[in-house]
Amino acid sequence: MFCSSEEVSDVAACSKRRVTEEDPVKDDLKKSRVEESEVENTDGQVVEGGGQQASRSDEVKAEVSPAIWFLLSSVTFYPFYLFFFAMSSDSSPPPLAPFDHRIVTPKPHQIATYYTINRDEVLGGGRFGQVHKCMENSSGLMLAAKIIKARSQKEKEVVRNEIQVMNQLNHANLIQLYAAFESRHDIILVMEYVEGGELFDRIIDENYNLTELDTVLFIRQICEGLQYMHKMYILHLDLKPENILCVSRATNKIKIIDFGLARRYKPREKLRVNFGTPEFLAPEVVNYEFVSFPTDMWSLGVISYMLLSGLSPFLGDDDNETLNNILACQWNFEEEEFTDISDEAKDFITRLLVKSKSWRLSATESLKHPWLSDQSLHYRLNQKVVKSHDINLFF
Ligand code: ADP
Repeated sequence: MFCSSEEVSDVAACSKRRVTEEDPVKDDLKKSRVEESEVENTDGQVVEGGGQQASRSDEVKAEVSPAIWFLLSSVTFYPFYLFFFAMSSDSSPPPLAPFDHRIVTPKPHQIATYYTINRDEVLGGGRFGQVHKCMENSSGLMLAAKIIKARSQKEKEVVRNEIQVMNQLNHANLIQLYAAFESRHDIILVMEYVEGGELFDRIIDENYNLTELDTVLFIRQICEGLQYMHKMYILHLDLKPENILCVSRATNKIKIIDFGLARRYKPREKLRVNFGTPEFLAPEVVNYEFVSFPTDMWSLGVISYMLLSGLSPFLGDDDNETLNNILACQWNFEEEEFTDISDEAKDFITRLLVKSKSWRLSATESLKHPWLSDQSLHYRLNQKVVKSHDINLFF
């Protein structure tokens, strides 16, 4: 456990920290990526007649009131709204792995006989090793190889558990296992490779402004993956933005990775976690109480909060303060980052960041919540983005 119950009663003030390294300029936050590129396109198209277009636009502006001008531009751009909405609210699942689901048993062979691991290309560093890009020699298939140091039988058992869990999971939002190799010092998992980087990078990237609608699409897919896992009676127990990978830079499709802590639900199992950042831990994990399906749902609440605001809801000045904030369930929407966020989004988070496990929404209930399911809300969220784009174009 991280802290005693006495420490908990002395709850430190919740000092939420921005996930970005530097505070972005406020105006930049308001710009969406689409908006920026559209402005560029428009600039590009009017290079020759730019002055003419600008002066005509100024004349009209002088004669027509802003409200009417806004209405006119809305009508002109209506087809664009529809197209943009269809594109940006695409709710189709991500592409399946480029191979059929398979049951993997670790082979005692040398991996180099079958695969070429690109040791120079590190996709990520994990708790127990590194992940590299690799290629299957016979097919040319690009994959990811997670090399996990495991010397003792106990360490090997932990990795075998990860393999066993992945063997049971066949879903487009969950990364798929292709092969495994076991040697004296390590076990290597060969997995489906995705190239879009961690969702975490999108939160901290100042050039990529996540809109609320983007967040809806991300959270809905995480929920789909979780709903499937929970139906299979499996808990992930380590959900955080680092463990959500984007399929590509261009789309909002994601896959959940890292089943290192995942396990079959056992009614009276506790989980001891004493590594890494505690920001995402549910109160029952901090308190070393029974973990269950709602434990993952708490993490989903934290991820939703972070994606919408770039802030970490429980992060304190040190780990102890963070843990105290979690145990006191001390969080709020007071930061200015939440000013423009919908009531539905706030309601969704409020129903997940609940200290008592049994009161949290399940994955199935979450998918039915208006924030994730109400099409007219999604249309409104989309219009907000397009309107701000419109205003930037004409005023
Ligand atoms: P650990 O269990 O050791 O924390 P992870 O499975 O979380 O390791 O992987 C560490 C990092 O490697 C991830 O955060 C991600 O950036 C990268 N990574 C992992 N799996 C893949 C994959 N299948 N495709 C691309 N990158 C990956």
